Amino acid sequence: MKEYEVVIIGGGPAGLTAGLYAARFGLKTILLERGLFGGQIVNANEVHNYPGFPNGVSGMDLGQLMYDQTVKFGLQAETAEVTGIKSNGNSFEIIFDEETISTKTVIIATGSNYRKMGVDGEAKLNGRGVSYCATCDGFLFKNKDVAVIGGGDTAVTDALELSQHCKTVYVIHRRDQLRACEAVQRAAFSNERIKFIWNSVVDSLEGQEKLDNVFIKDVKTGGTSSLSVSGVFVAIGLIPNSDLFKGFLDLDKAGNIVSNEMMHTSVPGIFTAGDIRKNSARQVATAVGDGATAAKAAFSYLKER
Ligand code: NDP
Repeated sequence: MKEYEVVIIGGGPAGLTAGLYAARFGLKTILLERGLFGGQIVNANEVHNYPGFPNGVSGMDLGQLMYDQTVKFGLQAETAEVTGIKSNGNSFEIIFDEETISTKTVIIATGSNYRKMGVDGEAKLNGRGVSYCATCDGFLFKNKDVAVIGGGDTAVTDALELSQHCKTVYVIHRRDQLRACEAVQRAAFSNERIKFIWNSVVDSLEGQEKLDNVFIKDVKTGGTSSLSVSGVFVAIGLIPNSDLFKGFLDLDKAGNIVSNEMMHTSVPGIFTAGDIRKNSARQVATAVGDGATAAKAAFSYLKER
């Protein structure tokens, strides 16, 4: 069985940064990614909130640059889906494809996926009016009308953030009460640019080159209506990629990995980084910070042993 000092699961900004640091520490490291290197940012047309790129950078380019920098320093990065993890006392077995490898430490950077509405037009108009990140894309809708879908903290804080640049922000929520905390609700209710459309869900999205209309269904009456907006921000929760670790690591109610500020999880020798981590700010900038911290923590752990 091949032996490593560090196995990194996930090749987004957190995993790639952990890989960069681990490789530069001289640790025998492999990174396993099931999809595209770069993670969720590869779907972002332009990233404007990552330092060092005053004119913005495409998510695809940023992911590629991070990957190139990491492999340049000797990281072994492979496309493979991890399907199992086992503890053997002082080491761990990682199972993927037809192979099992052994490692002294693991860094989990598997991220999460935005929950999709699953309605007609959503996939087609993704990046052309449909967004899952108000912080990333809000500035594209200056003085425009937009809608936010959802009633949780993310949806309502997104609405507040968008109200700073947009003309009107419609919050479309499937119930007549918000899930967001009281203080956030109060701020939104007193904001003149935010309007609520209650008991309603999106039925479909329409537009050729870009989003033009949102078709809305009233869940109480069954009646339908349309709303002309330039942007729709979907904020109906995240699905953490943590199924593999249920029962093995402490997870919070939503399925995010519980860790301390040095990225230690509940199992010594296993570290975490990025969006999968409980209380992550879910930004590229914070993911790379987590990745560097996790690699440093893994290095210290190996040195102490
Ligand atoms: P939540 O799960 O809290 O909220 C999701 C929202 O989307 C709910 O209002 C839910 O409706 C709605 N929803 C879910 N599925 C659908 C669907 N298929 N169609 C329409 N609506 C749907 O997710 P958040 O991302 O808002 O928050 C995640 C966690 O992060 C929470 O614990 C939150 O408190 C925390 N957070 C904290 C922030 C802060 O500033 N402190 C900022 C952002 C997030 P319903 O209410 O009917 O279930």
